[in-house]
Amino acid sequence: RFITLEGGEGAGKSTQARALRTRLEALGHEVVLTREPGGAPGAEAIRHLLVTGDTGRWTPLAETLLHFAAREDHLAHTIRPALARGAWVVSDRFVDSTFAYQGGAQGVGEETVKALSALVIGADMPALTIILDLPVETGLARAHSRAGVDNSGEDRYERMEQVFHQTLRDAFLAIAKAQPERCVVIDASQSEEDVARQIWHSVTSRLAT
Ligand code: C5P
Repeated sequence: RFITLEGGEGAGKSTQARALRTRLEALGHEVVLTREPGGAPGAEAIRHLLVTGDTGRWTPLAETLLHFAAREDHLAHTIRPALARGAWVVSDRFVDSTFAYQGGAQGVGEETVKALSALVIGADMPALTIILDLPVETGLARAHSRAGVDNSGEDRYERMEQVFHQTLRDAFLAIAKAQPERCVVIDASQSEEDVARQIWHSVTSRLAT
């Protein structure tokens, strides 16, 4: 009953998480919609540190440990209690983001993230992970237009950003390939409605609803 949505910037994770909650609630289920980094008061305080600090404030390993500290708090105060009372949990990002961002793109490495994951998450892995996949240019264009940034100029930072996001995308696809029993990749360049329909098909075909 634990579902996570993953993917890069601008893939529509938050929108699709809300749509999934609506469909599950229509079946009469209690649904806890949550997010990472964050999802509980302590974890949200750590999120604030992570998203507002200067980039480069922490080493990649320190940043990884902050994500796992937040995740421990999120599991203890939101996810585990919800699952224990029979609610469904839908999380906008979870540990696969740490594998992709910190493990892959920031170079911490898979083994370190795996070890922390075993320590913090243990057996409480999601039953289903939806990976919303998007070509890098499309995702960045969506994210920039949402942020009101005009990034049409070809500059060095834009190319660096593209390389970073290509690494991220490859990391998410590699996770899906390695763990097909848990992960489904959905083409997020389709319309919102089509993406929602495919997510719902994955949920109903893989989990008892
Ligand atoms: O998904 P959301 O936009 O809420 O994520 C907040 C920010 O944190 C994003 O800029 C995302 O790229 C970043 N992030 C990260 N490492 C993670 C999860 C999110 O750098 N493990």
